[in-house]
Amino acid sequence: MPVPGWYYRLSSFFRENFGEKIYKIPLDAGFSCPNRDGTLSTGGCIFCYNPSFSPASLERETKGEIKSLSEQIRSFQWRSEGGKKRLREQFSFPPDNFIPRRKYLAYFQSYTNTYGDVKTLRRKYEEALFLPGIIGLSIGTRPDCLSSEILNLLESFSRDYHVWLEIGLQSSHNRTLERINRGHTFEQFAAAVKATEGRGIYTCAHIINGLPGENRAEMLETIQRMNVLPVQGIKFHQLQVLQGTPLAQLYFRGEIGVLTEEDYLGIVSDQLEILRGDIVVHRLLNEVTNRELLLAPQWQDSRTGFSRHVEDELKSRGTFQGYSLQQ
Ligand code: SF4
Repeated sequence: MPVPGWYYRLSSFFRENFGEKIYKIPLDAGFSCPNRDGTLSTGGCIFCYNPSFSPASLERETKGEIKSLSEQIRSFQWRSEGGKKRLREQFSFPPDNFIPRRKYLAYFQSYTNTYGDVKTLRRKYEEALFLPGIIGLSIGTRPDCLSSEILNLLESFSRDYHVWLEIGLQSSHNRTLERINRGHTFEQFAAAVKATEGRGIYTCAHIINGLPGENRAEMLETIQRMNVLPVQGIKFHQLQVLQGTPLAQLYFRGEIGVLTEEDYLGIVSDQLEILRGDIVVHRLLNEVTNRELLLAPQWQDSRTGFSRHVEDELKSRGTFQGYSLQQ
């Protein structure tokens, strides 16, 4: 399958499907996670500190409050397209007559957003979906929190809305998953992805490069294993060591290292060459919202800057996403 450009960007996918740019609104819907609340463990994944990448979670953590979904969505829309700056400053919250012109996905980002009973989930998703400008959902979750009842609910939404499920995998190697205390296996991920097939739900896998004890060959193997699953999207992350996490303790004890930007660039480029051409790349790099939380690596390119570097790298190699699969 031909790839538009050097790799298949989410922006290209949206343009093909909606003819315009679609914006994602990051949300904290107040969910917890079974890997934190004692159901599986209390420590969570050893790298996890949600407030580092989720502005709404940061607010939950620092102010102890979660705004309603409507409030989070309406404020985001107002900030992003609320007319003149003066007006936005005057009214921190949109006036009642504000109608967004852009299209948005409500991105349930913080923690595990399918961790609840179906009635609660329906109420939260519908609160977002029924607001003006919202054309669908993007739901971040774990593979072991996707019962058939929950998939039925998402399938019902997918008839009228655009629905992505963003499922954390991080690595396809069970040894690594154990080491980072994920609390699920690769087989559970594969089963969850297969269970979404044919339901009109798009599935995006999250992976992390540079996890403790993993070498380049293993990171490439994760891509090969994903290629044979009905996955439609992928989000790449570099391992980041954040203050207060168990990973930070390993880092301080000198038991783990992190990737240099050069290494990460090389690995992502290698992975793109072997990634199926129809898999949409949602992101190539993670950015922390609060730099003070980041212990390592100290390099932090912007997402657009890093995308350019990847394109330059593939261009210089004369390759593109899926190149190796065509040889
Ligand atoms: S599953 Fe997600 S939210 Fe839960 S501990 Fe792991 S990274 Fe954090």
